[in-house]
Amino acid sequence: MIPYGCQDIDAADIEAVAAVLRSDFLTQGPVVPQFEAALASRVGAPHAVAASSASAALYLAYRALGIGPGDLVWTAPITFVATANMARLCGAEVDFVDVLPETGLMDPVALKRKLETAARPPKLVVPVHLAGQPCDMDEISALARSVGANVVEDASHAVGAIYRDTPIGACAQSDIAVFSFHPVKMITTGEGGMAMTADATLAERMALLSSHGVTRDPAQKEGAFEGGWTYEQVDIGHNMRLTDLAAALGLSQLERLTEFLEKRSSLAKRYDEMLENTPVRPLKRCPDRVSSWHLYVVRLADAAQRRTAFDAMRGAGIGVNVHYIPVPRQPFWRAQGTRPEDFPGADAYYSGALSLPLQTRLTEAEQDKVVRVLQESLA
Ligand SMILES: *Cc1c(COP(=O)(O)O)cnc(C)c1O
Repeated sequence: MIPYGCQDIDAADIEAVAAVLRSDFLTQGPVVPQFEAALASRVGAPHAVAASSASAALYLAYRALGIGPGDLVWTAPITFVATANMARLCGAEVDFVDVLPETGLMDPVALKRKLETAARPPKLVVPVHLAGQPCDMDEISALARSVGANVVEDASHAVGAIYRDTPIGACAQSDIAVFSFHPVKMITTGEGGMAMTADATLAERMALLSSHGVTRDPAQKEGAFEGGWTYEQVDIGHNMRLTDLAAALGLSQLERLTEFLEKRSSLAKRYDEMLENTPVRPLKRCPDRVSSWHLYVVRLADAAQRRTAFDAMRGAGIGVNVHYIPVPRQPFWRAQGTRPEDFPGADAYYSGALSLPLQTRLTEAEQDKVVRVLQESLA
């Protein structure tokens, strides 16, 4: 099977992990802060907090911003379920802002309309940079700020993406941006994620909550310093720490991020060229941004054509996939009162969406096969 996405591990990655195994620290030692600093520097983020997954980092971001019971969080219906789930797990009510069918990205016009008619404003808006293409961050951020809402970017797909000359992760238009290091994403740590922010207080809070709300920092403590053993639990949190083993892999992978981005972008360009004279259209690109090319999504005519293509390609050993089933269609969210029919843009995007294989190890011969089988299935 040619997977739609997969990791790219080399000998240097393996040696970096082995070096940690030979060292004194397996969980949080010196490598986690090195990885945080390296990625922060790469994307121009003042602060970074590593976590055990992007889902964990989203949870930490929401909690650090004070999201809790009674608060309203708005995100996009076309995302992985974790974006919405973590807000619900904080106790918040979750609602969705429709996407543009041609990009799958949160529609600023839909956001404006929803803000005008909502019974109460959201406390947080979470745009998702689908497939690695950044959302309309200036517009979304201005609208969110106009009602006093915070903004968290679900940048799980977007390590290396650029919006209007600023790297995603610099948080120019948001409070926090979250990256994922799942093996199908841009760089991997096995499981892992990182929250980037320009706000030192938010960074401190996320770090605290990632480790049980327990601090050893005299400045964060309320009580007296009783001795060298003193720690204090000042809040309640989980264990959402990244390990040094994982961070060593991430740090090593980060050295190849530029190479990975170039490879993905040139494969995407090659798909564009091969599909040019076919009825198959890729997602629309916005000229003022650079995608990290996590996914190469094409839009087929309708659900029936997508089904035919999906089955034919899977049958031919091509690991196509669909990103994503609209979250409001999920039984859990329906039971929460979410009405899938309220998001026609998400349905229109979803009905024809198909992710073709796009990963750094994909060969041109494999890519030729992908396009050939896709075209044959549509003939
Ligand atoms: C992968 C992904 C997540 C979750 O990432 P994990 O690191 O697997 O927890 C969240 N949101 C989106 C959009 C994703 O693609």
